Amino acid sequence: MLSVVVDQPNSMAVVERPMPEPAAGEVRVRVRFAGICGSDLHIFHGQNPFVSYPRVIGHEFVGQIESVGEGVSSSRVGETVVVDPVISCGECHACLIGRQNVCSRLQVIGVHRDGGFSEYACAPAKNAYVIPKGLAHASASVIEPFAVAANVTHRTGVFPSDVALIYGAGPVGLNLMQVLKRVYGIRAFITDHFDERLALARACGAAEDETINTLNESLPEALAARGVEGGPTLVYDAVCHPSIIEEAVRIAAPAGRIGILGFSAKPSAIPQQELTKKELTLYASRLNCAMFPTVIDWITRGLVDPGRIISHKFDFRDVAGAFEQTERNPRYSCKVLLDFGVDS
Ligand SMILES: [Zn+2]
Ligand SMILES: [Zn+2]
Repeated sequence: MLSVVVDQPNSMAVVERPMPEPAAGEVRVRVRFAGICGSDLHIFHGQNPFVSYPRVIGHEFVGQIESVGEGVSSSRVGETVVVDPVISCGECHACLIGRQNVCSRLQVIGVHRDGGFSEYACAPAKNAYVIPKGLAHASASVIEPFAVAANVTHRTGVFPSDVALIYGAGPVGLNLMQVLKRVYGIRAFITDHFDERLALARACGAAEDETINTLNESLPEALAARGVEGGPTLVYDAVCHPSIIEEAVRIAAPAGRIGILGFSAKPSAIPQQELTKKELTLYASRLNCAMFPTVIDWITRGLVDPGRIISHKFDFRDVAGAFEQTERNPRYSCKVLLDFGVDS
C-alpha cells in the first residue's frame, strides 16, 4: 500500500509500506478521503512538539472497514466510517472526569501513531463512526474538524442571548459559524483578511452584516456600527495568534467567555484587570471530547453541512501540490482533501 510519510521535518514522500494489521479491538479502513489540517502542515514543518518521525500523518479521514482485529465483530466489515483520532487511556484523572481528549497518555492518530494519509489505516473500532446515510464521503471527512468546532462551543456553552465573535474564517472558524448560526441560532460575527473567506462564511450561515474584513475596518468600530453594545459575550480564537487573546479580553463583554484553539508557544500579554473587572472565563479547547455523535446527529437532522468548506480535491500522490495549494493560496483554498481514488 502507498502512504504519505513525513520522515523528518520538511521531508515528505509517498512510499510503499507494508499493510498494517489491525490489533485486538481495531479495524482496518480502506481510506477514501482525508482532509489536510493546519496541524499536518505543522508536523511537516517540524513545528509540532508531540510528533515523532517518521510518521504517516492525517487525522481527518473517511473510508470503508475492510478487516477487523480480534474481539471486533466481523459484521462491521463494509461499514463506511469516519475516525475520531483521539485515543485515551481511560484511567488517568482527565479520563475519569470525562475529559479524555486531554488524557495524560493521549495518543492522536496521525500525530503519535500512524494516520490516515494512507491507502489503509488502523484505528480502534470504537473510534470508527458510521457516517450519516446520504452524506458524500468527501463531506464526511470534514466531521473531525466539525467536532473541533463542536468541542469549543460545548466548552464555552452557548446562551440564546449570546452575541459571538469568531476570529478567522478558516475551516474551524467557518465550522464554528455553522454551529452558532444553524444549531444555536445566535448572532455571530466573523473576521478575516480575505473577502473570499467571508463570502464562504455567509454560505455557512453568516448574515450580510456579520462578516468583517479587519483589513478595511477596525473591529471595535465595526461591532459598534452593527449595534453590538458592550462587546461580544462569546469570543472564539480560530486564528491562533498570541495577539488575538489580548484583543479578545479587551473587547469581550462583562461575564464574557473566550474559546481558545491555538497552539502557539509564544506568551500573550493578558491584563488581570480586564479579566477580573469583567469576570471573563477562558476556555481552552483541544481536539474533541467524544463529539462525533453530536456532529453526526446535527448532520442527520440537516442542521449543518460539513461539505461546505471543501475547496479542492487532490490525488493523494500529489500531496505536495495539495500542501502547496493550502499554504500558498489561502485566499482561494479552504479545506483541501486528498482523494485515495476508490469508487464510493
Ligand atoms: Zn485537525
Ligand atoms: Zn487517560
